[in-house]
Amino acid sequence: MNKIWKIISISALIFFIAAISPIKGASQDEFNETTFASKRKGMVNKQIIRRGVRNEDVIRAMMTVPRHEFVPKGWVIMAYDDTPLPIGYGQTISQPYIVAYMTEILNLDKENRVLEIGTGSGYQAAILSCIAKEAYTIEIIPELAKSASLRLKKLGYKNVEVTCGDGYYGWPEHAPFDAIIVTAAAGHIPPPLLKQLKNGGRMVIPVGGPFMIQNLVLVEKGSAGKITTRNLMSVRFVPLTGKYK
Ligand code: SAM
Repeated sequence: MNKIWKIISISALIFFIAAISPIKGASQDEFNETTFASKRKGMVNKQIIRRGVRNEDVIRAMMTVPRHEFVPKGWVIMAYDDTPLPIGYGQTISQPYIVAYMTEILNLDKENRVLEIGTGSGYQAAILSCIAKEAYTIEIIPELAKSASLRLKKLGYKNVEVTCGDGYYGWPEHAPFDAIIVTAAAGHIPPPLLKQLKNGGRMVIPVGGPFMIQNLVLVEKGSAGKITTRNLMSVRFVPLTGKYK
């Protein structure tokens, strides 16, 4: 009888080890670079190209930048999902499609200098830096500005400069900019940003209150400085904070 119990126990142990091994293997696979690259490819194909983004530079940048490096550790497994994710301090990294769409709207080329308001994780800035000549980005929360700056340096994005401050006022020392992207919702289009946009330049900005439907607005400054605006789509962004909301 004892012998039978021994055989049953050993068999049960072998079965248990065999049963948990594939799970262990799968969770390790979730965290290797090959799996991340394949998740990234899936993200670009399903969420970005299928929804109509066509700009090759944008597609290449979205395919290259390791989004999993820009989300907190506990969210890495969802880094390539079709959703914004929390990055701490009540802020978010935007949904991949929104990042791609807003970047495409800017129509950047490799001679351009671009300003971003709302650095957050630094992901959007990394995407911009893959396409433009220089990217400047402003974050109002000191901890986020510092961590994004360190992350961008560690990952080798050399043509991005991060500063901590109220982006409502732009970055006059580096103005004028060929393009400006605002990644937090403003109550109105900040006049200092309009001033710092070059003639012929483009700005994309979510406009609206925090509990309202916001409009993603394309602002164009004509060659003679004339401003025109166009609503692109409804969006939901965290609010632009600072002195003027
Ligand atoms: N672009 C970011 C990324 O790739 O992770 C996500 C931006 S998150 C949706 C908006 C960011 O704007 C937050 O980090 C927030 O702290 C910042 N923000 C809000 N008001 C700001 C202001 N007045 N000046 C600069 N940054 C501001």
